[in-house]
Amino acid sequence: MLPAIDPWFSAFVAADVAWCTYLPTRRLAEVRARRLALLLRASAQRSPLYRRILRGRNPDTVRLEELPIVSKAELMHSFERWVGDGEIRIRELREFTAERDLIAEPFLGRYTVWESSGSGGGEPGIYVQDAAAMAVYDALEAVRRIALRPGARLIDPFWLSERIVFLGATSGHFASAVSFERIRRLNPQLAARLRSVSILQSLNKQIAELDDFQPTVVATYPSVAVLLAEECDAGRLSIAPQEIWTGGETLTVNMRALIEKAFKCPVVNSYGASEFLTLASQCRYGALHLNSDWAIVESVDEDGRPVPSGTQGASVLLTNLANHVQPLIRYDLTDSVTLHSGSCACGSSLPVIEIQGRGDDTLHLVGDSDQPVRVVPLAVATVLEEEAGLFDFQVVQRGPRDVALHTGLLGEAAAAALTQAKAALGAYLGRQGAQNVQIHCYGGAPAKLGTSGKMRRVLGMPCKNG
Ligand SMILES: [Zn+2]
Repeated sequence: MLPAIDPWFSAFVAADVAWCTYLPTRRLAEVRARRLALLLRASAQRSPLYRRILRGRNPDTVRLEELPIVSKAELMHSFERWVGDGEIRIRELREFTAERDLIAEPFLGRYTVWESSGSGGGEPGIYVQDAAAMAVYDALEAVRRIALRPGARLIDPFWLSERIVFLGATSGHFASAVSFERIRRLNPQLAARLRSVSILQSLNKQIAELDDFQPTVVATYPSVAVLLAEECDAGRLSIAPQEIWTGGETLTVNMRALIEKAFKCPVVNSYGASEFLTLASQCRYGALHLNSDWAIVESVDEDGRPVPSGTQGASVLLTNLANHVQPLIRYDLTDSVTLHSGSCACGSSLPVIEIQGRGDDTLHLVGDSDQPVRVVPLAVATVLEEEAGLFDFQVVQRGPRDVALHTGLLGEAAAAALTQAKAALGAYLGRQGAQNVQIHCYGGAPAKLGTSGKMRRVLGMPCKNG
């Protein structure tokens, strides 16, 4: 079955997104206020949880700051009271996301569904989008992604001569994997030119798949792109992509330079979350612009108070103006960002945003034949979450063949979870040619904070790409 889509509405939204990019700030604020009122009205009508929260308040006049800050754990706990469709049952959703064959299939015939990883703490979230929300995500992605090769798009506007590879966690219903599979299903003529490659395979297998496919576009995480750049520099990977798309983690200036130098092609970065697919898109001057026509982002301190522009906040509150099925209103994203006022040379009126604190490390281990083995943080997280069901963890590299696996769990729960997690991580490292790496397990251990003060899940030893 094809994913849920409404072509007429999609065309309308795409035109609106193009129009909003250069709207004066004041007009943009009016668009946002109108959309917020619509969201609040829909939430009060459809979501029992928000009916209670919004009781006695006028959706047209209530100030966003008056509404409570909500967390993933609280919302997931009252999932069926939260969502705005009584037919959406959490048990059926969990069964749905447990089936790999159903990735990008419509749930209940009308919803696109994905789950998040456990980053930010706790159990994964599940996010349900209708055709209207997907049309917004599609339009932001299509209209606000800069054309790195305008000439190529003029000749081939539908990307039919490209070969696009997605390298990521392909085995679960994650937002990136669902999105990629959804594009494949919606564009049968493009399907043979899209390939997804699992980063849980050994690096040699990933390289063999890439060498075979010869992608012109590589879409992946910054840490994975760095790993590939190093393989390219070492002469073990022979691909010549024309552009590289990254997202999902912080892309530092050094990482970008290393990737662009190795592949001799530009990198375009974006910032998104399972809760809002494309929150910010990079402009031609390298700045990330917040898609503030469809998302309200509040950067706040530890006590939930707004921080001034130009200052890094302790957390981020997201209000998703596109999704009326599963209202996300002042939702704590647990990221850390800096919002900037002032204009950008590109002419966009959308605010510039800098992302901090999504900087887990790549592990630099030494394998069974003394060869270097690099393990990207996404692979560690996916193995522990997907294969061992462990969400509360921190992996700390202590030596070339020594990692510590911590969990906040206690007693028997910790022992059982750590046994399973150690086996899964050990088997994965074995597949990477690093069977000899010692994994030491600790229950009830307090997590180490990163430099931004946020919890990091994978900490490596200091290295050149930090
Ligand atoms: Zn710009």
